[in-house]
Amino acid sequence: AKAKGKNNFQFFSDDMALIASRKIALENDMRRAITNKEFVLYYQPQIQVETGNIIGMEALIRWKTDDGDVVSPGEFIPLAEETRLILPIGEWVLYTACEQAKKWHDTGHSHLKLAVNLSPLQFLHEDLMDVVKFTLHKTGFPASSLELEITEGVAVDDAEIAMARMRELREIGVRIAIDDFGTGYSSLNYLKQFPLNNLKIAQPFVQDMATNPSDKALVEAMVFIAHNLNMSVIAEGVETEEQLALLKDLGCDEIQGYLYSKPLSADQFTELIVKGRF
Ligand code: C2E
Ligand code: CA
Ligand code: CA
Repeated sequence: AKAKGKNNFQFFSDDMALIASRKIALENDMRRAITNKEFVLYYQPQIQVETGNIIGMEALIRWKTDDGDVVSPGEFIPLAEETRLILPIGEWVLYTACEQAKKWHDTGHSHLKLAVNLSPLQFLHEDLMDVVKFTLHKTGFPASSLELEITEGVAVDDAEIAMARMRELREIGVRIAIDDFGTGYSSLNYLKQFPLNNLKIAQPFVQDMATNPSDKALVEAMVFIAHNLNMSVIAEGVETEEQLALLKDLGCDEIQGYLYSKPLSADQFTELIVKGRF
């Protein structure tokens, strides 16, 4: 039993070493990616349910390595957060997205609002307000067209800092959305106190609502709560006409998902808004 235990340990530690070395390799690659400008932004349209019009877009990062691979953010954002590389990467995302959206505003699409994801570290970082103000000033993008998406967890873990930060952002006119709502552990009490503009219903609820009555009931409750707190509601991950019909029925304001469009490159997005409707 002892020998076996030892072997197990050996095996386990080899495994850990492998994971650790992969992590270090990925971290190094990520640092290089920043200097090599290997990150690109994609934009997913957000659609007003009532009119079917595109009213904005969410910027989503992609990593195109020099050998042509595309790494999804799910794979590198957590490590970027752990290594704090998310700070320079996040600044780049905000700046680049505002710069691009400003071009769309200047070519006749000034109604478009831009949603940008903020990682918890970025949101709670003391430099955030300076970064946001600098970016808006330099790019000329209006604060009132910018919506920053934060997750439930960050708001609850450090409620006091989060509240102060949200107030500062709102004071300069920036909008705030709560992302992936329903998957974390936010309390309704916080939801009531925070100065939020938009609630994003997490994908799992949306994707199961057509087949699972409890999910449908939860979506209905989320729409009701959001509206009563003067927030608008956007459903994410809408993939079918059936889901859209249900969401329309429940009074959801906006949708985002493959049904209308996958995230698009800046050029593809330009083409889409020039064409107008779908
Ligand atoms: P998220 O903020 O919840 O973004 C929505 C994700 O759902 C995106 O994945 C999008 O491509 C995907 N999606 C959109 N419509 C559909 C649909 O109809 N069906 C399905 N199955 N998926 C859909 P993506 O781009 O891989 O991003 C994953 C996550 O990575 C994002 O989740 C966000 O948390 C994070 N992320 C992406 N870009 C950034 C960024 O610039 N900064 C930070 N901090 N996080 C980012
Ligand atoms: Ca998001
Ligand atoms: Ca989300």
